[in-house]
Amino acid sequence: MNLFRADLHCHSNCSDGSDDPLQLLRKAKVAMLQGLSITDHDTIAAYTPELFVLAESLSIRILTGVEISSEYEGAPVHILGYGYDLASPALSTFLKEMQERRSARNRAILKKLADRNIHIDEELLQGNSVGRPHIAAFLVKKGHVGSIQEAFERYLKDGASCWVSGFRLTPQEAIEQIRKAGGKAVLAHPHVYKKGSLLKKILAHHFDGIECYYSNKNKALELPWLKIAEERGWIVTGGSDYHGSIKPHICLGASWVGESTFNALAALS
Ligand code: AMP
Ligand code: FE
Ligand code: FE
Ligand code: ZN
Repeated sequence: MNLFRADLHCHSNCSDGSDDPLQLLRKAKVAMLQGLSITDHDTIAAYTPELFVLAESLSIRILTGVEISSEYEGAPVHILGYGYDLASPALSTFLKEMQERRSARNRAILKKLADRNIHIDEELLQGNSVGRPHIAAFLVKKGHVGSIQEAFERYLKDGASCWVSGFRLTPQEAIEQIRKAGGKAVLAHPHVYKKGSLLKKILAHHFDGIECYYSNKNKALELPWLKIAEERGWIVTGGSDYHGSIKPHICLGASWVGESTFNALAALS
């Protein structure tokens, strides 16, 4: 019997992954996945007709996905949207606005870098959903830092010298935008938050699901989130957060869900 496994969290080069969406699908086939959701940051550009044609020929089911960048009291909160209507005009308007917010924030980061005598021409940061990883890659390429990690540590991570916050929408707005397009809103990687009042406030939102199975995290770390999901009747989701060569330690399929979860998220609400 062929076990159905779907990785519900990965990034293509439409945001900060290194594989194009069709390559991602081929890699999903090699990883023996039967389902995939590409969850690029603030863009659904991966979902082209070609993607669906290739998925059909590889017998891989596709679930529409996106990872929305929201912010709560200055802390980034990533919210996954699944099963939305790709043709929703409200969703495309919203994501266009998110790209504009990103451009404004990128410009503010570049200005802070320029104040430190590091000059990056904005035009060099081309593409969809450009963000900090692209700026980090550029800092490596130009020899300002030795690695992406160092770029984050020295300049870009939350609270670092060139970090810019306050450009994002609230988690509640993100949830509403996903629902407006018929999708389900899922709290991404709750494991990243330190236990405390911020986490409590984030968990007070009415999500449809929570990403309990995440990346390379070990089993014991899933338990608190599984308990919360059970208490609240939230859907338990999972995925690798694969980014390709940008995060080479994470394999596609490292975390996954079964068919009933996939179907629950795919049903338009
Ligand atoms: P942005 O959407 O521009 O805020 O960038 C967020 C992305 O940057 C995340 O999805 C990660 O891929 C990457 N990232 C965030 N923090 C770090 C870090 N400390 N080291 C490496 N990559 C990071
Ligand atoms: Fe990312
Ligand atoms: Fe994330
Ligand atoms: Zn992600």
